[in-house]
Amino acid sequence: MTPQIKDLSTKAIHAGEPVPRIAGAVVAPIFQSANFEYGGESSYHDLRYIRLNNTPTHDVLHAKLAALEGAEAAVVTASGMAAISTALLSVLSPGGHLLVQGNLYGGTHSFVTRDLADFGMTYTVIDADNPASWAASLQPTTRAIYVEAMTNPLLQVADLAAVPTFARQHGLVSLIDSTFPSPVNFRPVEHGFHVVLHSATKYLNGHSDIVAGAVAGRSDLVEMIRQRLNHLGGALDPHAGFLLHRGLKTLPVRVRYQNESALAIAHCLERHPAVERVNYPGLASHPRHARATQLFDGFSGMLSFELSGGRDAADRFIKRVQLPVSAPSLGGVETLLTLPATTSHAGMQPEERHLAGIGDGLIRVSVGLESTSELIEDFEHSLGLVGTPLAG
Ligand code: PLP
Repeated sequence: MTPQIKDLSTKAIHAGEPVPRIAGAVVAPIFQSANFEYGGESSYHDLRYIRLNNTPTHDVLHAKLAALEGAEAAVVTASGMAAISTALLSVLSPGGHLLVQGNLYGGTHSFVTRDLADFGMTYTVIDADNPASWAASLQPTTRAIYVEAMTNPLLQVADLAAVPTFARQHGLVSLIDSTFPSPVNFRPVEHGFHVVLHSATKYLNGHSDIVAGAVAGRSDLVEMIRQRLNHLGGALDPHAGFLLHRGLKTLPVRVRYQNESALAIAHCLERHPAVERVNYPGLASHPRHARATQLFDGFSGMLSFELSGGRDAADRFIKRVQLPVSAPSLGGVETLLTLPATTSHAGMQPEERHLAGIGDGLIRVSVGLESTSELIEDFEHSLGLVGTPLAG
């Protein structure tokens, strides 16, 4: 008899694994077969075919992800953007209207603001921190409300608990991009969200070596999204699926370490005279620290900070640190740094960026799995030199 699995660490290892094990293999093998013998299936969506995301490699992933999120069902996708765009194109039909949080991840922001109109869909940006204001943006055609668990790069935490309640009151589908916290820190289904979206490229895989996405949630909605995905073609390649499966097994250990490390680094930065401001929901100084403490089991490996010396100081800091890699993306084993003003938010006008609170010298950090004390040593050394011009 399989014992009842409750703990996330145990789920990450055992949930969804094939029973019995395939040829006794301890690790579920990769099924690199485009097609499978016809087994009498009566629906197109049930035929075993690689684009229909239903090889045994996919099946294991779907069951494990659903278990980790505490969701009825899950489906993997070719990328985080495939998950997000397919989900939105499934819950909205032509003429449909979406309520959407401001300061979204850039790819989602572009999809909503530039592409949705081509499908006959409209949107209104809401202040996700002020639920009392949301009803004023409702239209007879409003079908869904979309938020992010933590915003990039300022790590703001909206009034997430109010979203599912509002959605139920008004017959909307609630969707959340939960990439930053990952299910280790936050499981939106437990709070009543209908659909949870991930860039699995980030924490779920955790090794910066694939692109993948995931959708989890209520089974009828996941099935609707899966069928649209089958037509749009955003299936996950089994090779990437195999790596994602491997990554998922260590997700809880990785993320819990990254939570601890990021908190220690955030404290150190906050105390440093060269640092003007630190954005990390685990700090008491974060404007939504109390809310984050209520919602999350940990505060993630993501933080951002602004140096008093602005852009020049930020450039010097990034050039001098030894361990972190200056690169976009997040959630991997290596610590990554980016200047949002020149990368993820370069498309915004400088005034727009400043209004959004993203200064030219804001540095975003994705804390990896290096030794916390060596990272702090490295950060402190570089911070001590930000006033000194670079040689040459
Ligand atoms: N959501 C968030 C919060 C992200 O940071 C990203 C990528 O950076 C995405 C979605 C898109 O994911 P992908 O690059 O896997 O398509």
